[in-house]
Amino acid sequence: MSHQPPEDAAARRAIPPVICYPNETLPRPDMALYAAALATAEVTQTLLAPPREAAAFRVPAGHFFRIRSVDGPQVGDLNLWNASDLSERFYSGKTRALHGTHVSTGERLWSCLPYLRPMATIVDDSLDWYGIDAFGGSVHDVIGTRCDPYTGNLLAGTQYHHCCHSNLTRALSEATGLAPAEAEAHVHDVLNVFMCTGFTRDTGQYFMKASPVRPGDQLTFLAEIDLLGAISACPGGDCSSEHSSDEAACHPLAIDILVPVADALSGWQSPSVNGYDRSHGLKS
Ligand SMILES: [Zn+2]
Repeated sequence: MSHQPPEDAAARRAIPPVICYPNETLPRPDMALYAAALATAEVTQTLLAPPREAAAFRVPAGHFFRIRSVDGPQVGDLNLWNASDLSERFYSGKTRALHGTHVSTGERLWSCLPYLRPMATIVDDSLDWYGIDAFGGSVHDVIGTRCDPYTGNLLAGTQYHHCCHSNLTRALSEATGLAPAEAEAHVHDVLNVFMCTGFTRDTGQYFMKASPVRPGDQLTFLAEIDLLGAISACPGGDCSSEHSSDEAACHPLAIDILVPVADALSGWQSPSVNGYDRSHGLKS
């Protein structure tokens, strides 16, 4: 049953919104310094995530990593961990609360509690021209989770093994030597690189549409701490129709690791973990 609205329902709906987390006090990265360091940085390694597979990579703090479209339009699901402590991982939900539903240049990927520090900062985004389209869609979202075989099984009774969740699980297992079941527990909600998504205004449902990404497009980050990353070339391809199956056309994604020239980042420091004292109001 649905309920009767109060007499002042219209007035209540007309109250303007308030930003939950005004971010003017967030520590600001020196983007001019980052951009200048990127301009002269050299590629030291290039890896490829094959279609419907993931690739893991390591990036020392103060180096860059770049995710690049090759061959054809493709969406990637990105996970990040502290390279020496997998319990510190990317926190998609808080990144969304701090920066909004989609991220671009100057915004950062934050780690989970109790660490809550920048893991990576976006230094260049070749899709920054896209903005927010008429459907409310934009690129590089932190609103999706990652395609996974459990949801596929729930909705369609399938047993599909190349969802991003499984691809990331295999890649992390191979990179760390952890058993797959153990690695799976470290896989987390992603940054959807190049994916174009939003919420429908009428039903509030999560939607996707064909990504505007073209070969040559890239998203480049500075690693703020030593990182282990993994990116899955989503079985949804450009996510114009469906995912969680082998139906869509899929393409690889390249990952470049770049080292800045000496002193290019002078003055930059890897951020410390969050300063909250963790006493939670308990008497010591
Ligand atoms: Zn996926």
